[in-house]
Amino acid sequence: MAYINENFLKLQHRYLFAEIAKRVAAYKEANPQADIIRLGIGDVTQPLAPAVVEAMHRAVDECAHSETFRGYGPEHGYNFLIEAIIAHDFTPRGISLTPEEVFISDGAKSDTGNIGDILAAGNLVGVTDPVYPVYVDTNTMSGRQISYIPCNEANGFMGDIPATKLDVVYLCFPNNPTGAVITREGLQRWVDYALKNDCLILYDAAYEAFIQDADIPHSIYEIDGARQCAIEFRSFSKTAGFTGTRCGYTIIPNEVTVNSLNGHRVALNAIWDRRQCSKFNGASYVSQRGAEAVFSPEGQRQVRATIAYYMDNAKIIRQGLEQYGLKVFGGQNAPYIWVRTPDGIGSWNFFDRLLREAQVVTTPGAGFGAAGEGYIRITAFGSHESSVEALKRIGKCL
Ligand code: PLP
Repeated sequence: MAYINENFLKLQHRYLFAEIAKRVAAYKEANPQADIIRLGIGDVTQPLAPAVVEAMHRAVDECAHSETFRGYGPEHGYNFLIEAIIAHDFTPRGISLTPEEVFISDGAKSDTGNIGDILAAGNLVGVTDPVYPVYVDTNTMSGRQISYIPCNEANGFMGDIPATKLDVVYLCFPNNPTGAVITREGLQRWVDYALKNDCLILYDAAYEAFIQDADIPHSIYEIDGARQCAIEFRSFSKTAGFTGTRCGYTIIPNEVTVNSLNGHRVALNAIWDRRQCSKFNGASYVSQRGAEAVFSPEGQRQVRATIAYYMDNAKIIRQGLEQYGLKVFGGQNAPYIWVRTPDGIGSWNFFDRLLREAQVVTTPGAGFGAAGEGYIRITAFGSHESSVEALKRIGKCL
């Protein structure tokens, strides 16, 4: 007889984006002429950079000939990409990594979830609230207990260092959904906490490319002690429009160890390598060649121009909402704008009002956790025109 993994029955219904879609569909049915602007989900809208497209075309052509055809690649990822990542993203920041410490993946969602495979079910896992739901769902699937760390205006959405002992903690900066960043000192406090409490930090830096301020850390390894206690996840999705193409990477320094029941410390790098070799056959050659091209001079120019385009949208939205008298966070080093609802109305009520009166779709903060109540998230991933138009319409309905 087959039995279900009971942990999956404990998952909350994935109601957030389904509920949004339901409400938008109902509105559209009642108002077929409505011109709806979608600034809700966090997908990008601008096409891949020409340098990336050309590299992917070349890679496909290679695979069209038996002499240059590529089959299964290294589970760890191709060296050409690993070396480009280290040379571009880490060496200039004074971070030294060996190629074995970099694992190419098909994106940060899989890795932030799958990393739990190599951690005991008994670990108590801390997540910041509001939270990217993948951390909660994947740990629930593994039967782990979750402790919520409120991120609010009082703590600058960075979360207070817990008074209790956590075994694992997920941090995400720049943050989805609040758009908050963490200062060097703030991140040092988390690393110090982790070292003191033998806690593993899982650092999601999927949005690091959006950081504009020079003093904000891009990588947790810019912080003293992080090589002993932190794993970092990165993604080409938002950096370079790879949400459909798929490529990301995970850094596990050789020094990161955790306990085993026999009393020995175990290096996570070797265990993750073992896990990946058994369960993952690598990101596609074509995606990895595309990702490599992100680091070419033209690729850099092009992806930076697209990020600047999104950040311009963020500025328009942020400044416009402030002029309307709303309290606004994020949007300066992140593509998300976190807006306090006016007059303390609920997230879903404000969502409904913006849909009905402005035909603008946002995301209710309450959908990301209890601490998100009283806020909505607006993304900067729309077009310039739709961001300007959305703002105009929101102004009329406040
Ligand atoms: N981490 C965060 C915080 C995200 O918001 C997202 C996507 O929205 C991801 C990871 C997923 O990235 P990927 O497309 O690389 O799987």
